[in-house]
Amino acid sequence: MIVVLKPNTTPEVISEISAHIESLGFKAHVIVGTERTVIAAAGDERKKQLEQVESFEAVEKVLPILAAYKIASKETKAEPTVVKVLDLVIGGGNVGVIAGPCSVESEEQIVETARAVKAAGAKGLRGGAFKPRTSPYAFQGMKEEGLKLLATARQETGLAVVTEVMTPHHVEMVARYADVLQIGARNMQNYHLLQAVGEVDKPVLLKRGPSASMEEFLLAAEYVLDQGNKNVILCERGIRTFETHTRFTLPLASVPYLHEKTHLPVIIDPSHGTGKASLVPPMCLASIAAGADGIIVEVHPDPANAASDAAQTINPKVFADTLEKCRVIANALNLKMN
Ligand code: PEP
Ligand code: MN
Repeated sequence: MIVVLKPNTTPEVISEISAHIESLGFKAHVIVGTERTVIAAAGDERKKQLEQVESFEAVEKVLPILAAYKIASKETKAEPTVVKVLDLVIGGGNVGVIAGPCSVESEEQIVETARAVKAAGAKGLRGGAFKPRTSPYAFQGMKEEGLKLLATARQETGLAVVTEVMTPHHVEMVARYADVLQIGARNMQNYHLLQAVGEVDKPVLLKRGPSASMEEFLLAAEYVLDQGNKNVILCERGIRTFETHTRFTLPLASVPYLHEKTHLPVIIDPSHGTGKASLVPPMCLASIAAGADGIIVEVHPDPANAASDAAQTINPKVFADTLEKCRVIANALNLKMN
């Protein structure tokens, strides 16, 4: 950490602050500049409470050098994390495609969708069995029955099942059926849930909260990693802004930014990110162009009659055409995409 002192701090006060920094287990290096003096505190700043130095009257600010997240940071692990489950590969130059309905509705619906998205090139099947709905009166999902139908669809197609778990006491049950545990945007800061999925031996797809900063997003991932689960996929799904032309605002710069900060793979959800079916295909292409390690897309055989998120859901034909175009972009960037 760098401790910046106010102008005209006396040598006595500088010594006092340096001594305090050393008492916390750091080495204090005083750097005297023409305008002001700073103290570089060397040591593992993440373990110590160096922020308390800010309480000295003469301290203007304390600047961290290392990221607050540790295991997620590229400072700790430079090479990209590659998440593999069945044929779904995400990260390190592999673009993984996950597709399926917002909600599981019936065996026929989920199996038909699974076959269609597999034929188009998807390797993961999404589908909510436990649905986090804004209104308590909206369809809440088929629950365990829906999980069973997802397992049937996996048996029929070999696709890896990605589905949401909403509460710590369902983790064991959902993990019995799912290949990837999804943490929804609304639960990104449900720390007990993050810790619970961190103890499971299945990859976690962590969605960004609509109002979460990048640092909060990475610290949420850190909760999972800290429990020993190293297979975390970050998913940008749009944030809440003043804009109303889309359901959320989808910041694609999150992809290159996160790639600079973390080794974890980053995927995009253009369905929730836009809320409009017509905007989904171009944002799929843009996601790949921005370097995303994958996309998760809502696809339904009959979008108009989908039980949830109909307006942002595309049909299998549009999905297949979109993936064909995505492949052109992936090839141009030397990325692997099936
Ligand atoms: C979903 O993927 O179905 C979902 C509810 O997404 P989010 O948590 O991003 O709103
Ligand atoms: Mn949805």
